[in-house]
Amino acid sequence: MARINKYTIKDLKAQFSTEDVCLDFIFDALHSRKCSCGGEYRRVKARKQYQCSKCRFQIAPTAGTIFHKSDTPLTGWFYALFIFSNAKSGISAKELERQIGVTYKCAWRMHKQIRSALGQDKEKLTGDVEMDTGYFGGRFRAGTDNHRQSEAMAAKSVVMGAVSRGGKAKLKVVPNAGLPVIEAFLESHVSKDALLMTDNAATYKSSSKVYRHLKVNHSKKEYAWDRIHINTIETFFAHLKRSIAGTHKTISKEHLQSYLDAFVFHRNNSGNDSARFAVLLGAVLRGAR
Ligand SMILES: [Zn+2]
Repeated sequence: MARINKYTIKDLKAQFSTEDVCLDFIFDALHSRKCSCGGEYRRVKARKQYQCSKCRFQIAPTAGTIFHKSDTPLTGWFYALFIFSNAKSGISAKELERQIGVTYKCAWRMHKQIRSALGQDKEKLTGDVEMDTGYFGGRFRAGTDNHRQSEAMAAKSVVMGAVSRGGKAKLKVVPNAGLPVIEAFLESHVSKDALLMTDNAATYKSSSKVYRHLKVNHSKKEYAWDRIHINTIETFFAHLKRSIAGTHKTISKEHLQSYLDAFVFHRNNSGNDSARFAVLLGAVLRGAR
């Protein structure tokens, strides 16, 4: 029963065994074999092209995809996607380099291209929605290095996160944690009919005018009173910080959003390795359109 949800290296090798099979998969995901002229697209021998049997129109299925103009074979790319899909705590470019057998520069670029295909969807969160703000990056830990507190905070990126209990998550790098930024984040990512839960920071005050809004008072140790808690988003933030420290060491501000997109992808597609891999392939190919 559990087998259906699994997708192992054995499955990958069976499904994407050769360059030809991978190219056929890409073609069929993006195009129809039937040409509008009534002819049928067939593979052009020894080229990454398909040609219509009647009008002779040609299609290069990798054009516009992350696979285009890459020296890495498609089987290598699919292997990279497979590893990425199964790495729930993230995978470093260094590890990809080792596993696929490409140069570090190449692995780094592949990693970046995969992440860039994973933008978060526009659908707003509904139901019980927890929201929180986190601080990521920088060399110093605020709080443990007190004389460098301001320096530590300046080096950090501000991230707003929201998660619908039993549903999806959103993470956004934002310029600061001020009121207008919070309002804009909620407007874009949380549906008006949601029941919003936050800590009791003053900056969330105006949210009560827009949402049904429950606040957790951390200072009074009301961490999880019945339904009113933000444990889900706090746990997600903790997972991100652990994973980043363990896998990537540090992430530059420039690339943080795309790493967050990858974490959201893993969280929103957790539990089913096979479906997650299919979603990842779909996302990577959708980028082509
Ligand atoms: Zn045709």
